[in-house]
Amino acid sequence: MSISEFEIIERYFRQVRPLRNDVVLGIGDDAALLQVPSGYQLVVAVDTLVADRHFPQHIDAFDIGYKSLAVNLSDLAAMGASPAWATLALTLPEADEQWLKAFAEGFFQLATQYRVDLVGGDTTRGSLSITVQLGGLVETGKALRRDTACPGQKLFVTGTPGEAAYALKQFKSGARVDPNLLRRLNRPEPRVDFGLALAGTGASVIDISDGLLADLGHIVCASHCGATLWVDRLPRSRALRAMPFEEVLACQLQGGDDYELCFALDADKAGRVREIAEQQQLLLTEIGVTETQPGIRCQHDDGSIHHPRGRGFEHFLSENND
Ligand code: ADP
Ligand code: MG
Repeated sequence: MSISEFEIIERYFRQVRPLRNDVVLGIGDDAALLQVPSGYQLVVAVDTLVADRHFPQHIDAFDIGYKSLAVNLSDLAAMGASPAWATLALTLPEADEQWLKAFAEGFFQLATQYRVDLVGGDTTRGSLSITVQLGGLVETGKALRRDTACPGQKLFVTGTPGEAAYALKQFKSGARVDPNLLRRLNRPEPRVDFGLALAGTGASVIDISDGLLADLGHIVCASHCGATLWVDRLPRSRALRAMPFEEVLACQLQGGDDYELCFALDADKAGRVREIAEQQQLLLTEIGVTETQPGIRCQHDDGSIHHPRGRGFEHFLSENND
Protein backbone atom coordinates (compact mmCIF):
# COMPACT_ATOMS: atom_id res chain seq x y z
CA MET A 1 0.00 0.00 0.00
CA SER A 2 1.34 3.43 -0.86
CA ILE A 3 -0.18 4.80 2.32
CA SER A 4 0.38 3.04 5.64
CA GLU A 5 -2.30 1.60 7.90
CA PHE A 6 -1.40 4.27 10.44
CA GLU A 7 -1.85 7.05 7.87
CA ILE A 8 -5.21 5.66 6.76
CA ILE A 9 -6.48 5.83 10.33
CA GLU A 10 -5.07 9.29 10.98
CA ARG A 11 -6.24 10.75 7.69
CA TYR A 12 -9.67 9.25 7.35
CA PHE A 13 -10.92 7.84 10.62
CA ARG A 14 -9.65 9.84 13.54
CA GLN A 15 -12.21 12.54 14.19
CA VAL A 16 -10.83 16.00 14.71
CA ARG A 17 -13.25 16.61 17.51
CA PRO A 18 -15.03 13.71 19.22
CA LEU A 19 -18.74 14.34 19.75
CA ARG A 20 -19.21 12.57 23.06
CA ASN A 21 -17.81 13.13 26.52
CA ASP A 22 -18.36 9.50 27.54
CA VAL A 23 -15.40 8.39 25.38
CA VAL A 24 -12.56 8.17 27.90
CA LEU A 25 -10.17 6.74 25.27
CA GLY A 26 -10.97 6.51 21.58
CA ILE A 27 -8.77 5.63 18.61
CA GLY A 28 -5.11 5.20 19.49
CA ASP A 29 -4.82 2.79 22.39
CA ASP A 30 -5.16 -1.00 22.41
CA ALA A 31 -8.89 -0.67 23.02
CA ALA A 32 -11.47 2.01 23.58
CA LEU A 33 -12.55 2.97 27.08
CA LEU A 34 -16.18 4.04 27.35
CA GLN A 35 -18.24 5.30 30.25
CA VAL A 36 -21.65 3.69 30.64
CA PRO A 37 -23.86 5.85 32.89
CA SER A 38 -25.52 4.18 35.86
CA GLY A 39 -29.12 3.17 35.26
CA TYR A 40 -28.40 2.27 31.62
CA GLN A 41 -27.65 -0.96 29.83
CA LEU A 42 -25.13 -1.32 27.02
CA VAL A 43 -26.65 -2.49 23.71
CA VAL A 44 -24.24 -3.89 21.12
CA ALA A 45 -24.79 -4.90 17.48
CA VAL A 46 -22.43 -5.85 14.67
CA ASP A 47 -22.94 -6.27 10.94
CA THR A 48 -20.64 -7.17 8.09
CA LEU A 49 -21.02 -5.98 4.52
CA VAL A 50 -19.14 -8.13 2.01
CA ALA A 51 -18.47 -6.81 -1.50
CA ASP A 52 -20.52 -8.55 -4.20
CA ARG A 53 -22.71 -10.16 -1.58
CA HIS A 54 -24.24 -7.21 0.22
CA PHE A 55 -23.37 -4.58 -2.37
CA PRO A 56 -21.77 -4.53 -5.84
CA GLN A 57 -18.01 -3.96 -5.47
CA HIS A 58 -18.05 -0.78 -7.55
CA ILE A 59 -20.93 1.24 -6.16
CA ASP A 60 -20.17 4.66 -4.71
CA ALA A 61 -17.94 4.31 -1.64
CA PHE A 62 -19.99 7.03 0.08
CA ASP A 63 -23.02 4.72 -0.03
CA ILE A 64 -20.97 1.81 1.35
CA GLY A 65 -19.75 3.93 4.26
CA TYR A 66 -23.25 5.23 4.89
CA LYS A 67 -24.90 1.84 4.74
CA SER A 68 -22.31 0.08 6.93
CA LEU A 69 -23.36 2.33 9.80
CA ALA A 70 -27.04 2.57 8.81
CA VAL A 71 -27.64 -1.17 9.19
CA ASN A 72 -26.25 -1.09 12.72
CA LEU A 73 -28.20 2.04 13.65
CA SER A 74 -31.27 0.16 12.51
CA ASP A 75 -30.47 -2.73 14.87
CA LEU A 76 -30.11 -0.32 17.77
CA ALA A 77 -33.34 1.42 16.77
CA ALA A 78 -35.09 -1.94 16.96
CA MET A 79 -33.81 -2.27 20.54
CA GLY A 80 -35.00 1.22 21.50
CA ALA A 81 -31.39 2.22 22.17
CA SER A 82 -29.58 5.50 21.73
CA PRO A 83 -26.51 4.94 19.51
CA ALA A 84 -23.16 6.06 20.92
CA TRP A 85 -19.92 4.35 19.87
CA ALA A 86 -18.81 2.54 16.74
CA THR A 87 -15.81 0.41 15.86
CA LEU A 88 -14.87 -0.33 12.27
CA ALA A 89 -13.03 -3.36 10.89
CA LEU A 90 -12.07 -2.55 7.35
CA THR A 91 -10.55 -5.05 4.93
CA LEU A 92 -9.38 -3.42 1.71
CA PRO A 93 -7.86 -4.88 -1.47
CA GLU A 94 -5.78 -1.70 -1.82
CA ALA A 95 -5.44 1.69 -0.16
CA ASP A 96 -7.36 3.77 -2.69
CA GLU A 97 -7.46 7.23 -1.16
CA GLN A 98 -10.36 8.45 -3.25
CA TRP A 99 -12.35 5.44 -2.13
CA LEU A 100 -11.36 5.93 1.52
CA LYS A 101 -12.31 9.60 1.42
CA ALA A 102 -15.77 8.89 0.02
CA PHE A 103 -16.29 5.95 2.36
CA ALA A 104 -15.38 8.05 5.40
CA GLU A 105 -17.69 10.88 4.25
CA GLY A 106 -20.63 8.50 4.00
CA PHE A 107 -19.85 6.93 7.35
CA PHE A 108 -19.36 10.22 9.19
CA GLN A 109 -22.42 11.86 7.67
CA LEU A 110 -24.60 9.42 9.57
CA ALA A 111 -22.29 9.23 12.58
CA THR A 112 -22.53 12.98 13.02
CA GLN A 113 -26.29 13.00 12.51
CA TYR A 114 -26.75 10.50 15.34
CA ARG A 115 -23.86 11.66 17.59
CA VAL A 116 -21.89 8.46 17.21
CA ASP A 117 -18.13 8.52 17.80
CA LEU A 118 -15.83 6.11 15.96
CA VAL A 119 -13.71 4.82 18.85
CA GLY A 120 -11.54 2.15 17.23
CA GLY A 121 -11.22 -0.53 14.63
CA ASP A 122 -8.88 -2.66 12.63
CA THR A 123 -7.49 -2.19 9.15
CA THR A 124 -6.38 -5.18 7.08
CA ARG A 125 -5.72 -6.13 3.49
CA GLY A 126 -7.90 -8.61 1.59
CA SER A 127 -11.20 -8.80 -0.30
CA LEU A 128 -13.33 -5.74 0.40
CA SER A 129 -15.34 -6.27 3.56
CA ILE A 130 -16.63 -3.85 6.16
CA THR A 131 -17.64 -4.72 9.68
CA VAL A 132 -19.14 -2.09 11.93
CA GLN A 133 -19.93 -2.68 15.54
CA LEU A 134 -22.18 -0.21 17.28
CA GLY A 135 -22.74 0.31 20.97
CA GLY A 136 -25.59 2.27 22.45
CA LEU A 137 -27.50 2.89 25.65
CA VAL A 138 -30.94 2.06 26.87
CA GLU A 139 -32.45 2.77 30.27
CA THR A 140 -32.37 -0.43 32.29
CA GLY A 141 -35.45 -2.53 31.55
CA LYS A 142 -36.69 -0.40 28.63
CA ALA A 143 -35.09 -2.29 25.73
CA LEU A 144 -37.42 -3.46 22.97
CA ARG A 145 -37.18 -7.21 22.47
CA ARG A 146 -38.44 -9.78 19.98
CA ASP A 147 -39.81 -12.11 22.60
CA THR A 148 -42.44 -9.97 24.29
CA ALA A 149 -45.36 -10.08 21.82
CA CYS A 150 -48.62 -11.68 22.93
CA PRO A 151 -51.82 -12.67 21.13
CA GLY A 152 -54.32 -9.88 20.46
CA GLN A 153 -51.81 -7.09 19.81
CA LYS A 154 -51.75 -4.81 16.79
CA LEU A 155 -48.97 -5.18 14.23
CA PHE A 156 -47.40 -2.11 12.68
CA VAL A 157 -44.75 -1.31 10.12
CA THR A 158 -42.95 1.98 9.49
CA GLY A 159 -42.36 3.41 6.02
CA THR A 160 -42.96 1.51 2.80
CA PRO A 161 -41.22 -1.88 2.84
CA GLY A 162 -40.36 -3.51 -0.48
CA GLU A 163 -38.68 -0.55 -2.13
CA ALA A 164 -35.07 -1.65 -1.58
CA ALA A 165 -35.88 -5.14 -2.86
CA TYR A 166 -37.64 -3.75 -5.91
CA ALA A 167 -34.59 -1.63 -6.73
CA LEU A 168 -32.37 -4.70 -6.44
CA LYS A 169 -34.72 -6.66 -8.66
CA GLN A 170 -34.54 -3.94 -11.33
CA PHE A 171 -30.77 -3.75 -10.98
CA LYS A 172 -30.31 -7.52 -11.34
CA SER A 173 -32.57 -7.72 -14.39
CA GLY A 174 -30.53 -4.99 -16.10
CA ALA A 175 -33.60 -2.72 -16.23
CA ARG A 176 -33.44 1.00 -15.48
CA VAL A 177 -33.49 1.40 -11.73
CA ASP A 178 -35.97 3.96 -10.43
CA PRO A 179 -33.77 6.53 -8.60
CA ASN A 180 -36.25 6.83 -5.71
CA LEU A 181 -36.08 3.10 -5.14
CA LEU A 182 -32.31 2.99 -5.57
CA ARG A 183 -31.93 5.60 -2.88
CA ARG A 184 -33.81 3.37 -0.48
CA LEU A 185 -31.42 0.51 -1.27
CA ASN A 186 -28.22 2.54 -0.96
CA ARG A 187 -29.14 5.04 1.75
CA PRO A 188 -31.64 3.40 4.07
CA GLU A 189 -32.92 5.68 6.82
CA PRO A 190 -32.56 3.95 10.16
CA ARG A 191 -35.61 4.64 12.35
CA VAL A 192 -33.54 5.67 15.35
CA ASP A 193 -35.81 8.40 16.71
CA PHE A 194 -38.90 6.27 16.40
CA GLY A 195 -37.17 3.32 18.12
CA LEU A 196 -36.23 5.65 20.97
CA ALA A 197 -39.82 6.82 21.26
CA LEU A 198 -41.00 3.19 21.44
CA ALA A 199 -38.56 2.35 24.27
CA GLY A 200 -40.47 1.47 27.39
CA THR A 201 -43.80 0.85 25.62
CA GLY A 202 -43.24 -2.91 25.77
CA ALA A 203 -43.55 -3.16 21.98
CA SER A 204 -41.94 -6.25 20.48
CA VAL A 205 -39.78 -4.84 17.71
CA ILE A 206 -37.56 -6.03 14.88
CA ASP A 207 -35.93 -4.19 12.00
CA ILE A 208 -36.64 -5.56 8.55
CA SER A 209 -33.35 -6.66 7.06
CA ASP A 210 -34.31 -10.08 5.68
CA GLY A 211 -37.91 -9.38 4.61
CA LEU A 212 -41.15 -8.65 6.47
CA LEU A 213 -42.28 -12.29 6.61
CA ALA A 214 -38.94 -13.63 7.80
CA ASP A 215 -38.47 -10.89 10.36
CA LEU A 216 -42.03 -10.91 11.67
CA GLY A 217 -41.48 -14.67 11.83
CA HIS A 218 -38.67 -14.03 14.32
CA ILE A 219 -41.02 -12.02 16.55
CA VAL A 220 -43.79 -14.63 16.59
CA CYS A 221 -41.32 -17.51 17.05
CA ALA A 222 -39.48 -15.83 19.91
CA SER A 223 -42.79 -14.79 21.48
CA HIS A 224 -44.49 -18.19 21.02
CA CYS A 225 -47.45 -16.77 19.16
CA GLY A 226 -48.56 -16.27 15.56
CA ALA A 227 -49.98 -13.54 13.36
CA THR A 228 -52.31 -12.61 10.53
CA LEU A 229 -50.83 -10.15 8.10
CA TRP A 230 -53.23 -8.06 5.96
CA VAL A 231 -51.33 -8.09 2.70
CA ASP A 232 -53.61 -5.63 0.88
CA ARG A 233 -52.90 -2.99 3.53
CA LEU A 234 -49.13 -2.99 3.20
CA PRO A 235 -48.22 0.62 2.44
CA ARG A 236 -46.96 1.31 -1.07
CA SER A 237 -45.10 4.39 -2.16
CA ARG A 238 -45.93 6.12 -5.42
CA ALA A 239 -42.95 4.36 -7.04
CA LEU A 240 -44.24 0.95 -5.93
CA ARG A 241 -47.81 1.67 -7.00
CA ALA A 242 -46.51 2.05 -10.56
CA MET A 243 -45.24 -1.55 -10.55
CA PRO A 244 -47.17 -4.84 -10.99
CA PHE A 245 -49.03 -5.70 -7.76
CA GLU A 246 -47.84 -9.32 -7.44
CA GLU A 247 -44.20 -8.37 -7.94
CA VAL A 248 -44.46 -5.57 -5.42
CA LEU A 249 -46.13 -7.85 -2.89
CA ALA A 250 -43.34 -10.42 -3.25
CA CYS A 251 -40.78 -7.68 -2.62
CA GLN A 252 -42.75 -6.39 0.36
CA LEU A 253 -43.10 -9.78 1.97
CA GLN A 254 -39.80 -11.38 1.10
CA GLY A 255 -37.42 -8.63 0.05
CA GLY A 256 -34.84 -7.50 2.58
CA ASP A 257 -32.73 -4.40 3.09
CA ASP A 258 -35.51 -1.96 3.99
CA TYR A 259 -34.52 -1.30 7.58
CA GLU A 260 -38.02 -0.31 8.54
CA LEU A 261 -39.34 -1.34 11.95
CA CYS A 262 -42.05 -3.95 12.43
CA PHE A 263 -43.63 -4.32 15.86
CA ALA A 264 -46.43 -5.76 17.94
CA LEU A 265 -48.06 -3.40 20.44
CA ASP A 266 -50.93 -3.42 22.94
CA ALA A 267 -54.03 -1.84 21.36
CA ASP A 268 -54.37 0.73 24.16
CA LYS A 269 -50.92 2.16 23.34
CA ALA A 270 -51.53 2.43 19.60
CA GLY A 271 -53.04 5.94 19.67
CA ARG A 272 -50.05 7.46 21.46
CA VAL A 273 -47.56 5.70 19.19
CA ARG A 274 -49.46 6.88 16.09
CA GLU A 275 -49.17 10.45 17.39
CA ILE A 276 -45.42 10.08 17.83
CA ALA A 277 -45.04 8.77 14.28
CA GLU A 278 -47.05 11.72 13.00
CA GLN A 279 -44.87 14.19 14.91
CA GLN A 280 -41.82 12.55 13.34
CA GLN A 281 -43.51 12.64 9.93
CA LEU A 282 -42.99 8.90 9.69
CA LEU A 283 -45.57 6.77 7.91
CA LEU A 284 -46.93 4.15 10.30
CA THR A 285 -49.36 1.47 9.11
CA GLU A 286 -51.35 -1.14 10.98
CA ILE A 287 -50.76 -4.37 9.07
CA GLY A 288 -52.28 -7.16 11.13
CA VAL A 289 -52.79 -8.81 14.51
CA THR A 290 -50.98 -11.30 16.69
CA GLU A 291 -52.77 -14.54 17.54
CA THR A 292 -52.29 -17.69 19.58
CA GLN A 293 -52.06 -19.93 16.48
CA PRO A 294 -48.36 -20.22 15.54
CA GLY A 295 -47.12 -19.16 12.10
CA ILE A 296 -48.03 -16.21 9.88
CA ARG A 297 -51.14 -16.13 7.71
CA CYS A 298 -51.12 -13.68 4.82
CA GLN A 299 -54.70 -12.59 4.27
CA HIS A 300 -56.35 -10.53 1.54
CA ASP A 301 -59.12 -8.09 2.47
CA ASP A 302 -61.72 -10.46 0.97
CA GLY A 303 -60.62 -13.10 3.47
CA SER A 304 -58.73 -15.30 0.98
CA ILE A 305 -55.26 -16.47 1.91
CA HIS A 306 -52.19 -15.47 -0.05
CA HIS A 307 -49.46 -18.12 -0.29
CA PRO A 308 -46.11 -16.47 -0.86
CA ARG A 309 -43.52 -18.38 -2.84
CA GLY A 310 -40.02 -18.79 -1.47
CA ARG A 311 -38.89 -17.13 1.70
CA GLY A 312 -36.82 -14.25 3.05
CA PHE A 313 -33.10 -13.85 2.59
CA GLU A 314 -30.98 -16.50 4.25
CA HIS A 315 -27.26 -16.67 3.58
CA PHE A 316 -26.73 -20.39 3.71
CA LEU A 317 -29.60 -21.50 1.49
CA SER A 318 -28.33 -22.70 -1.89
CA GLU A 319 -30.92 -20.58 -3.75
CA ASN A 320 -29.15 -17.45 -2.48
CA ASN A 321 -25.66 -18.57 -3.37
CA ASP A 322 -25.76 -17.12 -6.84
P1 ADP B 1 -3.57 -3.03 17.80
O1 ADP B 1 -2.37 -3.53 17.07
O2 ADP B 1 -3.34 -2.65 19.21
O3 ADP B 1 -4.78 -3.91 17.59
P2 ADP B 1 -4.02 -1.33 15.55
O4 ADP B 1 -2.66 -1.02 15.04
O5 ADP B 1 -4.82 -2.36 14.85
O6 ADP B 1 -3.94 -1.62 17.11
O7 ADP B 1 -4.87 0.03 15.59
C1 ADP B 1 -4.35 1.20 16.18
C2 ADP B 1 -5.49 2.05 16.69
O8 ADP B 1 -6.27 2.48 15.59
C3 ADP B 1 -6.42 1.31 17.62
O9 ADP B 1 -6.88 2.22 18.59
C4 ADP B 1 -7.55 0.90 16.71
O10 ADP B 1 -8.76 0.80 17.44
C5 ADP B 1 -7.59 2.03 15.69
N1 ADP B 1 -8.04 1.61 14.36
C6 ADP B 1 -7.48 0.73 13.52
N2 ADP B 1 -8.14 0.65 12.36
C7 ADP B 1 -9.18 1.50 12.45
C8 ADP B 1 -10.25 1.87 11.59
N3 ADP B 1 -10.41 1.34 10.37
N4 ADP B 1 -11.13 2.78 12.05
C9 ADP B 1 -11.00 3.32 13.28
N5 ADP B 1 -10.02 3.04 14.12
C10 ADP B 1 -9.11 2.14 13.73
MG1 MG C 1 -5.58 -4.38 15.71
